[in-house]
Amino acid sequence: MPGSADPDLAAGIDGRLGEVRRRIERAGGDPGAIEILGVTKGQPAAVCRAALAAGLTRLGENRVQEALPKMAEVEGAEWHLIGHLQTNKVRLAAGRFALVQSLDSIRLAEALAARGRQPVLLEVNVAREPAKHGFTPEEAVSAARTVAGMLEVRGLMGMGPLEGDPSEAFAELAGLRRRLEQALGTRMPILSMGMSHDLEAAVAAGSTMLRLGRALFGERVS
Ligand SMILES: *Cc1c(COP(=O)(O)O)cnc(C)c1O
Repeated sequence: MPGSADPDLAAGIDGRLGEVRRRIERAGGDPGAIEILGVTKGQPAAVCRAALAAGLTRLGENRVQEALPKMAEVEGAEWHLIGHLQTNKVRLAAGRFALVQSLDSIRLAEALAARGRQPVLLEVNVAREPAKHGFTPEEAVSAARTVAGMLEVRGLMGMGPLEGDPSEAFAELAGLRRRLEQALGTRMPILSMGMSHDLEAAVAAGSTMLRLGRALFGERVS
C-alpha cells in the first residue's frame, strides 16, 4: 500500500519523475497528456510501492514469473505485461494484467482468447531487428483485424532500434496506428513507444505512453 512505502525511495522517484516531465516538455509534449508506465523489472517490491507513492499508477513487467510474486506483494497498481509471453505461460498470465502490450503472434492471441477477452496492444517490430518480437509492419494491420475478433485491441507497442536514430521507427508505428484506425473504424487510444534513452523521439512522433525503467528507478538490481 502507498502508506507503507519507503519515503526516501519515493522522494527519489518523485524527483526523477520531475526530470522526465521536463524532458517531455522540451521534446514538445504535454506531460499531463502522456501516460507513464513504470517498468519495474529487476526491481524489488519496495520500489514498486515507492513508485505508487510517488504518483505512478501503472507498472510494467517483462516476465510473468517475476511479475506474479510482486503483484501479490504490492497493492493498488495497474499491471501491464510488456515482455514476450510464451503460450505455455498463458495459463498463468490470463486475467492477471490490465493490458498485455506484447501481443506478438496470432497463436498467442488464440491462447489468450480461450481464457477471456484480454485487452492488448499489438507489438510491431518497427526496428526490423530479428532479435525483437512482434508483427512485421507489413502484416500489422491485417493481424490487428484478426486479433480484434478475439481480444480487445487498444493500440500498438513498439521499440526503437538498439542503435541509431529511432525517429523513423516511431513515425512508422504512429502511421500504422492511423491506418489501423481507418481499417477497423475504431479509435486505437494507445501508442506505446519510448523508453528511458529515446523518449524524446517517441514524444515528438506522438507517443501516448512511455515505458520507463532506468530513468525512474536507476539501474536494475537483477
Ligand atoms: C525494459 C523495457 C523498458 C524500459 O527500459 P528502460 O531502458 O529501463 O527505460 C521498456 N519497454 C520494454 C519492452 C522493456 O523490456
